[in-house]
Amino acid sequence: MKLSNRVAIITGASQGIGAAIARRFAEEGARVMLADILDDDGKSLAGELSASGHDVRYVRANVSSESDAKALVEQAMSAHGQVDILVNNAGILRRTSWPDIDIANWNEVLAVNLTGVMLVTKYVAEQMRARQRGSIVNIASIHAELTGPGVAAYAASKAGVQILTRSMAIELGPDGIRANAILPGYIRTPLYMNDANRATGGNPGPFIDAAAARVPSRRVGEPDDVSGPALFLASDESLYVNGISLAVDGGLAIQQAGTNPAG
Ligand code: NAP
Repeated sequence: MKLSNRVAIITGASQGIGAAIARRFAEEGARVMLADILDDDGKSLAGELSASGHDVRYVRANVSSESDAKALVEQAMSAHGQVDILVNNAGILRRTSWPDIDIANWNEVLAVNLTGVMLVTKYVAEQMRARQRGSIVNIASIHAELTGPGVAAYAASKAGVQILTRSMAIELGPDGIRANAILPGYIRTPLYMNDANRATGGNPGPFIDAAAARVPSRRVGEPDDVSGPALFLASDESLYVNGISLAVDGGLAIQQAGTNPAG
């Protein structure tokens, strides 16, 4: 098993990509702390994985709150005495367009997607530095590099996560801590389906088909498509990989404009 004797904190782990990563890490032997604000789903996932013999606990933590971030790491330390892996996965998508960008919407997205990454990492990195080891995996988005209409705050937050990842890699690397980003494309999760439903008035089928047609791999991704790359970056399989952005998008972002049938 690739994560034996490792303790992992995964934020936004009650559903979607975070839940898939949590399952995968538990199967690889990690003790996992699930952190989220969606209590029922988080407790139910922790219960299910614990019943299968894994050490998985749920902690309510709003990543945009410094006191929650601090308490989350304190709970991990008191339960396990160490944190080896942090997956900063919690994120929200709220659409708003120029020139009507709404300040409350902007602040909410930046607070969760960017400030939240900084806050949890700050408290985890203190503990990792004391042991001179650790791996941080930040779930950004292909919107960090290429974007479209309606997602200015989201894209800005994800570009921020990408450069923050590089800053972590540079400053924490000498202490044995690696930081890397994953840039997912279209992944079928509650976040993605809610957005697809909103965009289509509840008829997301053609929207998803059109998305799949834009991807060289000709499908929308599933949460498990991200858990393998996250495992690679979290584990000792990637000990000399530091500061990268790994696209997990079926090839979506490598295309020249206009080179596929859907544009
Ligand atoms: P998801 O299905 O909405 O799951 C994210 C989880 O994070 C939810 O349980 C959510 O709760 C929780 N969360 C929201 N705000 C939080 C906060 N302040 N503190 C702690 N937890 C919070 O989303 P997902 O699609 O799995 O996305 C996971 C990550 O991947 C995000 O960072 C997202 O931006 C990124 N990503 C996703 C896609 C995609 O296509 N799905 C593509 C690129 C990047 P609520 O449901 O209450 O919000």
